Amino acid sequence: MKREELPDVFSLYKRYINPYLADLLRFAGCDRVEWEAEGCIIKDSEGKEYIDCLGGYGVFSLGHRHPKVVKAVEEQLHRMPLSSKIFLNSPQAKLAERLAQLAPGDLQYVFFSNSGAEAVEASLKFARMFTGRKKFVSALGSFHGKTFGSLSVSGRDIYKKPFEPLLGHCEQVPFGDGEALEKAVDDSTAAVILEPIQGEGGVNVPPEDYLRRARAICDERGALLILDEVQTGLGRCGRIFACQLWDVVPDILCLAKALGGGIMPIGATIARPKIWTIFQENPLIHSSTFGGNPLACSAALATLDVLEEEKLPERAEELGNYLLAELQILKEKHANLIKDVRGKGLLLGIEFWEEDVGLLVVSFLIQRGVLVAYALNNPKVIRLEPPLIISKELLARVVEILESALKDVEAVLPT
Ligand code: PLP
Repeated sequence: MKREELPDVFSLYKRYINPYLADLLRFAGCDRVEWEAEGCIIKDSEGKEYIDCLGGYGVFSLGHRHPKVVKAVEEQLHRMPLSSKIFLNSPQAKLAERLAQLAPGDLQYVFFSNSGAEAVEASLKFARMFTGRKKFVSALGSFHGKTFGSLSVSGRDIYKKPFEPLLGHCEQVPFGDGEALEKAVDDSTAAVILEPIQGEGGVNVPPEDYLRRARAICDERGALLILDEVQTGLGRCGRIFACQLWDVVPDILCLAKALGGGIMPIGATIARPKIWTIFQENPLIHSSTFGGNPLACSAALATLDVLEEEKLPERAEELGNYLLAELQILKEKHANLIKDVRGKGLLLGIEFWEEDVGLLVVSFLIQRGVLVAYALNNPKVIRLEPPLIISKELLARVVEILESALKDVEAVLPT
């Protein structure tokens, strides 16, 4: 299709997709049609350029259309894109081996799916079956997906209430509070599930000893520790896995988003060997038609190559330190608007005193060609989550535009 042949996409959304979402996007100034993207830049159908400082909420760690991932996917596309599901599939086997080599500790076996929520669903099912226990403990403000199981362990009521009853035996405790975790985990607990750093909760970095304490509590009570690294994983926070920032090895680790290199959807649930005894009696006790398909696995294999070759975790750490320092300067200059800035690597958040200010800043930034979004479970926080391949120059440009947006917000606010 050529640009000139584009239909009225907004009307099609209104009529066939979700009229309320269409209106919300229009209200936020996001009713433009995305057209093409490369590296850190997205262009809309009118040719306007945007710096992608959101990175698809963690999907575009390699930027858009990384040539190595495109090439790997193209090669696989012309040979065998999807699996027969009858024979062995070599991209899947190679990817599982690579993930086991990369993952910390003795994490070894991999179940492949197509999304973050599916990776979490699998982890919950595996934990119940392996331990024979029912209870899950998770954190308030957490986001693990919107399927029934992943929603049940997520921590924001407005997304949960309309769908009750959800999975039973789920308890949420404040994130970062070791005492509360200690009280909630008992000998009926199958697993504790946590994000090492909460993304949608508002980029919440836990106290230094929190994850180690969670590990110790689980070990003491015979519960599994599941870490959801769907957003934090694969270099985003300055290490390949964020749990490595605190030297903690979970029993199960969930991945998705960036694993597909920004080209293919894929989810992965990686577990310690003992847990895989759940497949002994019935190897098909959990399965997925598209999970582990050759196309997605080829994309992921190329993604892991790029991650190593371009030293993306190290880049994220270095550029993240630079950006956070710049944000701290902005916080001091605009203390009337900004309450806090925080994060690790290139998962950074700006918390505003007022939710409306955050929304206004997001809208001003988008108008000026910088894509950011607020955190789903904490709209006072906007997230900066650019591709890890971004240059320091482009980040400096983002800081400049952010400062001009803050000044303009100050100008329109009542004094
Ligand atoms: N887990 C975390 C930590 C996430 O951030 C997300 C999505 O934002 C999910 C799970 C769900 O992933 P998906 O939207 O691919 O189902």
